Amino acid sequence: MQELDYLESNRDRHIEELRAFLSIPSVSTRSEHAGDVQAAADFVVQQLRAAGLEAVEKHSTPGHPVVTGHTKPVAGAPTVLIYGHYDVQPAEPLELWKTPPFVPDLRDGKLYARGAADDKGQVFIYLKVLEAFHQVRGGCPVNVKVLIEGEEEIGSPNLVPFLKAHKKELACDVVLVSDTHMMGYDTPSITVGLRGLTSVEVTVQGASGDLHSGTYGGSVANPIQVLCEMLVACKNPRTGKILIPGFYDDVRRLSAQDRRKLAEAPHDDEKFRSATGAPALFGEKGFSTIERIGARPTFEVNGIWGGYMGEGLKTVLPSQAHAKISMRLVPDQDPQSIAKATEAFLKEIAPPHVNVTVTRERNQGDAIWVDADFPAMQVARDAVRKVFGTAPHLTLEGGSIPIVANFKKVLRRDTILLGFGLPDDRLHAPNEKFDLRMLDRGMKTVAHLLNDLATA
Ligand SMILES: [Zn+2]
Repeated sequence: MQELDYLESNRDRHIEELRAFLSIPSVSTRSEHAGDVQAAADFVVQQLRAAGLEAVEKHSTPGHPVVTGHTKPVAGAPTVLIYGHYDVQPAEPLELWKTPPFVPDLRDGKLYARGAADDKGQVFIYLKVLEAFHQVRGGCPVNVKVLIEGEEEIGSPNLVPFLKAHKKELACDVVLVSDTHMMGYDTPSITVGLRGLTSVEVTVQGASGDLHSGTYGGSVANPIQVLCEMLVACKNPRTGKILIPGFYDDVRRLSAQDRRKLAEAPHDDEKFRSATGAPALFGEKGFSTIERIGARPTFEVNGIWGGYMGEGLKTVLPSQAHAKISMRLVPDQDPQSIAKATEAFLKEIAPPHVNVTVTRERNQGDAIWVDADFPAMQVARDAVRKVFGTAPHLTLEGGSIPIVANFKKVLRRDTILLGFGLPDDRLHAPNEKFDLRMLDRGMKTVAHLLNDLATA
C-alpha cells in the first residue's frame, strides 16, 4: 500500500503537527480554557479539510463544539463512523510533570503531553491516514464520516442530543473508536467490553448541629459511625459480594468458554499487584482479577467526609457524614435501576436515630459487550495481525465510554474499540505520554483496516 510509504516519508512533518495539536490546552472542564477548546476544534476542522473531507463543520452546542465531516462518497462501499475527542483532562498537579503538559516533549521515542494518548494522539492517527488516502489515491476507499467532540472528559453532556438530531447524517455500518489501550506493544488487543457506570451521594444527618462530645456523647448517634455501618452492610468485607438486593439480578454470566478465553490473555497477578503498591489484591471471591475488572460490577466509596479534620483534637459529635459512591456495571445492568436500588437499600437500612438522604448523580452509562466476530471486527482483527505480527487478544476493559452504548441505541451500530494506547500512558495523570511506535503502528493498522473494509 502506497499510503504506508506516504505516512513514513511525511512522519517528521506529522509529528510537528501533532505537537501543535497537543500544545493547545483544550481542558473542557475549565471555563477559562473555552477559547482553547475552540482552537482545538478549529485545528481538527482545518486538518480534515486538508485531508480532503467534505462538509466539514464545527457545530456549536450548549457546551463545546462537535466537529463532523465526510470523505468523498464511494458508491457501494461501506460507511465507517469515526468517533474521538479533542478535549483533555486538567493537567494538575503541575509540579509532578517533568516537562510542562502543554509543551510536548519527545523523550525516548515517546511524546509527553496532556492528551498525548487520550485522545489527541489517537484522533491524529485518523487525520493522517485520511490525508494519506487523499494524497495518494485522491480519496478514501470506504465512506468515512467523522464525529470529534470536545466534551468527552466531562461526560459528553451534549453528544447524545447531537447524535439523535443528526441520526441521518451519521448513519453508518460500523463505528470505529480509538480511545483505549492495547495490552502491550508486542501483545496487541482489541477491547470488546466496557463497564457501565452509575453513582450516588449519601448524607447521614444526626443532630441538627455539631454537639459537644462530652455533654452529648453516648446519648445521640454519631452519623460518621452510622454511615460506616451502612457502607459495610452494602458489601461483604470477606467475600467482596455486593449485598444490595437485586444488584446482581441482570448481570450477564460468563460462559465456561468466555472464562477460558479471558484466561488466555497474558496477565500476571503479582506484577499487577506490585504496580498498584497495595500489599495484596482483593476482590469478589470466585473470580480472577481479569474477570473482576472486566466482567463483574463494583461498589466503590470514592470519598467520605464529616466531622473535624483540622489540626489537633476537637471533641465534637458531628451532625453530618457524607459519602460519594460509584458503581461500575456490566451487561445487562441498568444504571438507573441500580442507582434506585442503592438508594432504596440505604434508606431501608438507615437506623431510626438518623435521617438519610441519597442523591442520584446524572453521570451514568450502560455497559457494553461487542460481538467479537461480526464481519468488520474480523477485518479489524486481521489488520492488527498484519501490522503487529500476531493476532489481537480480545479484552474486557473496566472503564466506561458511555457514548459507545449510545451508538448502539441511537445508530443501531456496533463499535470497534481499536485503541493504540499502552497501559502505562498515565491518562488523566502527570507525565501522560504516547509511544510514537504505537502512533506508527496505529496509522498502518487503520490504513489497512479502511482499505480492507472496502473489499470485505
Ligand atoms: Zn479519552
